[in-house]
Amino acid sequence: MAYEVVIGLEVHAQLLTASKMFCGCGTVFGTAPNSQTCPVCLGMPGVLPVINRKAVEFAVRAGLALHCTVAPMNRFARKHYFYPDLPKNYQISQYELPICEHGWLEIGQNGTSKRIRIRRAHLEEDAGKNLHAGITGASHVDLNRAGTPLLEIVTEPDMGSPDEAVAYLKALRDILVSQKVCDGNMEEGSFRCEPNLSLRPAGAKEFGTKVELKNINSFKFVKAAMEYEIKRQTKVLNEGGKIAQETRLWDTEKGETAVMRSKEEAHDYRYFPDPDLVPLRISEEMIEEARKSLQELPAAKHKRFVEEYGLSDYDAGVLTAEKDVAGYFETVTRSTGCSPKEMGKEVSNWVTVELLGLLHKGKPRADGSVEPLTIGQSPVLPQALADLLVMKRKGDVSGSIAKTVLEEMFATGKSAAEIVKAKGLTQVSDEGALEKIIDEVMAKNPQQLAQYRSGKEAVFGFFVGQVMKSSGGKANPAKVNELLKRKLVQ
Ligand SMILES: [Zn+2]
Repeated sequence: MAYEVVIGLEVHAQLLTASKMFCGCGTVFGTAPNSQTCPVCLGMPGVLPVINRKAVEFAVRAGLALHCTVAPMNRFARKHYFYPDLPKNYQISQYELPICEHGWLEIGQNGTSKRIRIRRAHLEEDAGKNLHAGITGASHVDLNRAGTPLLEIVTEPDMGSPDEAVAYLKALRDILVSQKVCDGNMEEGSFRCEPNLSLRPAGAKEFGTKVELKNINSFKFVKAAMEYEIKRQTKVLNEGGKIAQETRLWDTEKGETAVMRSKEEAHDYRYFPDPDLVPLRISEEMIEEARKSLQELPAAKHKRFVEEYGLSDYDAGVLTAEKDVAGYFETVTRSTGCSPKEMGKEVSNWVTVELLGLLHKGKPRADGSVEPLTIGQSPVLPQALADLLVMKRKGDVSGSIAKTVLEEMFATGKSAAEIVKAKGLTQVSDEGALEKIIDEVMAKNPQQLAQYRSGKEAVFGFFVGQVMKSSGGKANPAKVNELLKRKLVQ
């Protein structure tokens, strides 16, 4: 039997606020256990939560970026469950009235794009962390994360394959990072995915029983977990079995999923409005403010790069894949003083091929080890690269010399002008000097000269190469071509 896969996704994105959702404690990752706690996030009796205004602003901004409707009237609810890292024994979340609803985002490129609908995005607080690694065998709880603001973003079951689900996750992460509301750091748990997945006979209308996969923190694992789950469910169904509605965990070492618990229904949580928090009203003005603070979306930036800089779809894709790379590219182009169309393609090549190549190779450290650098760590600043490209454009250095100069700039942090001056790398465009080199090359290669003069034009390239070589790569190639054409025929 052929089955069709139906996937929906829940993402928990940690909002980049300085303090927690309902108290003033900090949200820095990796601090000493329980050092960022207070009576509110420890769930002491008698304390009162206060809503973090920044978290609300970020949620509204994210919602607008995801084309959601922002609810003017919001309510926080208590979601009850017992777990040692949840000191209140309930989590403050949103239930009937989430802050954002009915949005969408697009995956895929022009022509093959698909819209994934977002059912809702709501604000809630995170739980703490249980640690089971004590030497004594005891378990410990770290409540630093308890109360950290999360935006839970839930899609409709619109994805039909693990690849589509991963494309959605990447697009969502890019949007949240571009809006500066989440750092997208999956290793630190700032962006966690929970796919729910079901199979149904191909062409069927009704959904199959869905299985939820819990808190996966890398795109690679999320894909592997979904692929495993498709195989497992196909086998169960083919053998005449039934899929149990349950939550499963991905075991990275075994490469398989295992039952964590049978799935609860919403009524199991006994949601009710949190009496400690008044309903939250979001005014038109606040939504307008958020609209003004919206940053350019990755897809819009891609389109703009193609139009404004005259780049290919591919180049625009490489540059906009990372916000910092896109920013670097734009600063370099602007710093050359030329128009975007004049310099766009050239700067794009130098950034995506040469500079990213050097960054990828990294810079050896004192102990001899090498680690790739990010564009933010580049020893060559945008203005310095722009200066080099302007020198090349003016003909002061040739293309091949410019590459050597960039490597030197990368290694030493010196400016292009300093390196060119110190090493005498200025391009030779002077006709007298070039003619002298050409005469020498012709004298040394009488055989090739005779071949050329007898009509074998392919030898021309040989002469260009020889002249470039004896000039140490400094000869202006255009001038060399022009002079050779004249001299070889004489
Ligand atoms: Zn606190």
